[in-house]
Amino acid sequence: MSSKSRDAKAAEIRRLLAEEGASVAENTRGFNEGRYESVARLDDYDELKAEARAIKEDAIERLPELIEEVRESVEANGGTVYLADDAADANQYIAEVVKDRDADTVVKSKSMTSEEIAVNDHLEARGTEVWETDLGEFVLQVADEAPSHIVAPAIHKSREGIAELFNAHFDVAEPLETAEELTQFAREYLGERIEEAEVGMTGANFVAAESGTMALVTSEGNARKTIQATDTQVAVAGVEKLIPTVSDLQPFVELIGRSGTGQDITSYVSLFTPPVESPTVDFADDETPLSEVGSDDREFHLVLIDNGRTAMREDDQLRETLYCIRCSACANSCANFQSVGGHAFGGETYSGGIATGWEAGVEGLDTAAEFNDLCTGCSRCVNQCPVNIDIPWINTVVRDRINRGDGGAGGESAEFDWLVEGLTPDEEPGGVSLQKRFFGNFETVAKVGSALAPASNWLADRAPSRWAMERILGIDRRRELPAFESQTLVEWFEARGGSRIAPTAADREAVLYPDLYTNHVQVKRGKAAIRVLEALGVSVRVPEMASSGRAPLSQGMIATAERHAEEVAPPLLDHIEAGRDVVVVEPSDLAMFEREYGKLLDGERHRALADGSYEVLEYVYGLLEHGEEVESLAAGEGEAVAYHSHCQQRTLDLEPYTTAVLDAADYDVITSDVECCGMAGSFGYKAEYYDLSMDVGEQLRDQFTAPETSDRTVVASGTSCLEQLDSLLLGRESRHPVELLDPKQ
Ligand code: SF4
Repeated sequence: MSSKSRDAKAAEIRRLLAEEGASVAENTRGFNEGRYESVARLDDYDELKAEARAIKEDAIERLPELIEEVRESVEANGGTVYLADDAADANQYIAEVVKDRDADTVVKSKSMTSEEIAVNDHLEARGTEVWETDLGEFVLQVADEAPSHIVAPAIHKSREGIAELFNAHFDVAEPLETAEELTQFAREYLGERIEEAEVGMTGANFVAAESGTMALVTSEGNARKTIQATDTQVAVAGVEKLIPTVSDLQPFVELIGRSGTGQDITSYVSLFTPPVESPTVDFADDETPLSEVGSDDREFHLVLIDNGRTAMREDDQLRETLYCIRCSACANSCANFQSVGGHAFGGETYSGGIATGWEAGVEGLDTAAEFNDLCTGCSRCVNQCPVNIDIPWINTVVRDRINRGDGGAGGESAEFDWLVEGLTPDEEPGGVSLQKRFFGNFETVAKVGSALAPASNWLADRAPSRWAMERILGIDRRRELPAFESQTLVEWFEARGGSRIAPTAADREAVLYPDLYTNHVQVKRGKAAIRVLEALGVSVRVPEMASSGRAPLSQGMIATAERHAEEVAPPLLDHIEAGRDVVVVEPSDLAMFEREYGKLLDGERHRALADGSYEVLEYVYGLLEHGEEVESLAAGEGEAVAYHSHCQQRTLDLEPYTTAVLDAADYDVITSDVECCGMAGSFGYKAEYYDLSMDVGEQLRDQFTAPETSDRTVVASGTSCLEQLDSLLLGRESRHPVELLDPKQ
């Protein structure tokens, strides 16, 4: 990305932060709170998720068979199934149906898939009026805007904004103001459109192949009206919406509302087996509106859309996207989405975490590339997805393909590659952006930085260097750079003569994994970790090792990350084989061993490494549970601490160990409930994302500057959190929790 396009991107993000950020933040956080509460009331949440996942896996596996089955069942009911290859094919078919019915007006409800094919434009160009009857979609239709959220398309709009829009657009007797007035107006206005309409178009959350039954999960009753009041129904659904039977709906009905909007069950769960048998409404007859007229005349067309889905099904990496039930939990839980919404974090149709997978599949890499970098890989969405989709991995795969220019999306020109030659010992093709190459090869940067420190730190901080780094590498000059230590942790450990506890005198032996930051920058926390482990009777080793591959992976450089994994795994596995535990200070590196190495190594080696590795405070907790004395560690004596846990640490459910150990050591701990600090590794350094990163961090700043926390010692587990906290709290130094326990502090 050139510095000019970076500036343009930053400006657009700033605009969205200012204009849409507040509404998106308020609404998504409201959905999240509802989700946490509603899900907590489920005893069998994990079982339901596993069941839902299994049904989707099976349905996608048997998709061709289910398509034939639904064709038979719908036709047996008297309807028609049309399998559309792409948007143009689907639109042509729908336009024919509308023409056959001589319809002037079509009303619509609940269909992202119809957004995907842009059917409104197609029909309107042929002289048919199309009206959205979902309130949010109607607002956007009036505003001539695209949806910014999968479930709540107008989430970015405030009540005041909608009132202003309606008052300007419609001829209203009295200005509309309250939510009730706005809703009532829309209800009456759309009621008239529904009366006029000849064709009703809906989507479908699920379609049961066995019976042709469609399930629609909505919060407004307009889908029912759309179907009931018109004698021709067109249902538009992606082929992935097929499930085998109606009874397969059960886990989804339990999960979908809770995951999306935090409701135990959505206001309407409608099951139709069209063409429905109920008579159409005769709006002209006040006496007997439910006349028999037209009831035998109902038509139903199920338009199943492929539009890239068959190719996704055959793609080992993108297939999981088809399991998505479009609940939006991944968008709501995403810190970046909460700040900018789907107009920045979305493509032609889909927005939020899984949108990269959808847009790559249905639109192509070019569209996905526009927002793919907004996924920081923090992994907070992973536990929220009701079908257990590894969303960050899909985003990483797409990023890798964008880097490689697969599908014609293109990496950048290789023109400046010489600038980083030697600094980029990677497996990537020419043309991967300099920024990505730089951050992806941070191991080399760190080695050079330490070897030349303190001169390297001094030079990097000079104004001309910052200017060049911003222009060429896109590193924002407002961000403080890491200061490399001239003596790495490994060198210090060697100079010290190794562990103070001989293996023969120890109950346990551990290998402290020297991650990039602990080895080159946060050496203090590494020393503290060693002394804490030794105080608890552990003999420690700190071997020179390759970095985990987290840095290249975060840039979508999968082949390079794989090479790192292949370098890191053998020596660590040898240690595990010899009975030693692997202790990791940096949570994102532990997450790498536990999660992403599952994709980079064979299953056996991955499992052995994941099982033998521990986060440092998790390990300390285990030692204390097994009889070691907390008195061997530095005592808190009631010191007040404000603790922020790292996103990936929370995904792995490791946070409780840190708080338990600090409690045991007599620290008075308050834990932040802000899930992401916004720095997210290299993300916060990037000039185009700096403002967004700081905006995400604001919540944490508010929490740690509130009266009950403003005097507390700040601790955080992840490097990026520590860096961000230093920026947010200006001068209030933050530390890793293990430093508080260091007997020599
Ligand atoms: S990926 Fe999962 S969390 Fe995101 S919309 Fe799809 S089902 Fe919901």
